[in-house]
Amino acid sequence: MEADFQVGIVGAGFAGLVAALRLKKSGRDSFVIFERASEVGGTWRDNIYPGCACDIASPLYSFADEQNPEWSQLYSEQPEILDYLKGVVSRNKLYPHIRFQSDVVEARFLEEEGCWLVRDRQGNNTTVRMLLLGMGPLNRPYIPAFPGLEEFKGNYFHSSAWDTSYDVGGKKVAVIGTGASAIQIIPTIAPEVAHLTVLQRTPAWVAPRYDRKFSRFSRWLLKKAPFLQRLQREVIYRANELIGLGFIGHKIINRLFAYLSLRKLRKEVKDPALREKLTPNYIIGCKRILRSDNYYPTFNRQNVKLVTDRIERFTPEGILTADGTEHQLDAVVFGTGFIAADIDFYTKILGRNGRNLVAEWKEKGAEAFLGTTVSGFPNLALILGPNTGLGHNSVVLMMEVQMNYIMQYIHYLEKNGKGLYLDVKEQEQLAYNERLLEKFKGTVWASGCRSWYVNKEGKNTTLYPRLVTAFKRQMRKFDPAAYHLVQPRVNVPDKNPVKA
Ligand code: NAP
Repeated sequence: MEADFQVGIVGAGFAGLVAALRLKKSGRDSFVIFERASEVGGTWRDNIYPGCACDIASPLYSFADEQNPEWSQLYSEQPEILDYLKGVVSRNKLYPHIRFQSDVVEARFLEEEGCWLVRDRQGNNTTVRMLLLGMGPLNRPYIPAFPGLEEFKGNYFHSSAWDTSYDVGGKKVAVIGTGASAIQIIPTIAPEVAHLTVLQRTPAWVAPRYDRKFSRFSRWLLKKAPFLQRLQREVIYRANELIGLGFIGHKIINRLFAYLSLRKLRKEVKDPALREKLTPNYIIGCKRILRSDNYYPTFNRQNVKLVTDRIERFTPEGILTADGTEHQLDAVVFGTGFIAADIDFYTKILGRNGRNLVAEWKEKGAEAFLGTTVSGFPNLALILGPNTGLGHNSVVLMMEVQMNYIMQYIHYLEKNGKGLYLDVKEQEQLAYNERLLEKFKGTVWASGCRSWYVNKEGKNTTLYPRLVTAFKRQMRKFDPAAYHLVQPRVNVPDKNPVKA
């Protein structure tokens, strides 16, 4: 059997595209992207709720070598981000590499041949020498099992599956949750709906966003002087890293950040009782900080009500809260987030000796070496794998750092002969994760709060507990000594020889 492609990539969201772009720019052409939808964009294709925008500034939430001087504002909205992604894919001729509506159900490592057999729901079997998973951690919507939900006569949907056929205008609407998605939805729909009930379980830390439009002149300038783009990126990067310093234990920075957020709350919400309800009761950064310039002022509106009583149940007419109030509703938006820390894939990943990646992770919690490779699963790399997420900076940076490492891995495979594969040593993976655990000590995430960062057993499987700068340093050099180099029993002739 021959390997059909040198590299297979699952997912055409930011992560998959980081990989494809890097391969393409290095002159490699033997790769395929499996994408279950019919367009690129991942989360930026699926999330179309009102007000959907990125809370990381666009000059940084973009590919390092595909800078865009045309961003219309600092924090771009979803349609602009999706257009940017499509533009990058077109310009770099990545579309021909993408197999749309290819829903990968199983990837099995063939030990004899030293390659992965990828099977999609549509019945296609494809072999690839190296498999990269770019499925993203935030695509399994979480809808809590509230009693009575099935009796509710109104409409309801999750923020990530916005029902565009339903007009919320003039309706009595509730939003459950006050996370990153909800705080964008709430101010956007408030002026349109008849009444908005915001059901808050935990008040969030909301930092100022200082969003602004880029003038025609500044866009022209950025285009004419690319070094200004690089400078702009660098300034945003450094400022975010500074905030991150606070999260990893520099208390003064964290106190200052908390002070700025509370001052914002005081300035923007006039009613002291309301302000009290909106005041967070945990250390800033423990849950993902939110950035908004229009969230707090929304609560000064007459048609918006903040409810902090626990949701008891749904009724046919609305929601009953623990204080005995029945909130009459036409529609409910679940801004209740995603199942992220108990990492699961729709795809079954079977490694050496039939080991099942998700089953193992379910048992002991998700773990990888450098958040990228997993022992027993050779020639497999995860982009945004366990403990590579961030609460303070752009995750695109993390993906790119990982891809630098993966490119060295691929280069090593190419140099060392066809068919060979690399399997990270178990003790290296264990030692890395022990060090990682140590690094959580003294950080805001060790202060104890409920968030999607942490799995059911209380283990943080999502965040990198240091700065991006540290991750860059750690990932700079691929060290083959951390891997077993295995010669498969059958030599696989490659259909598409690699570039030397
Ligand atoms: P989230 O941050 O996990 O927020 C979920 C919200 O739902 C929280 O307020 C949570 O309350 C509440 N909730 C969950 N279960 C509940 C229950 N049973 N009863 C009442 N309330 C409940 O989810 P998200 O807003 O969808 O954001 C998830 C992540 O997506 C973000 O952290 C971010 O990484 C990403 N995101 C990014 C952007 C961006 O601009 N870049 C935008 C949107 C989302 P508790 O706090 O009490 O748990």
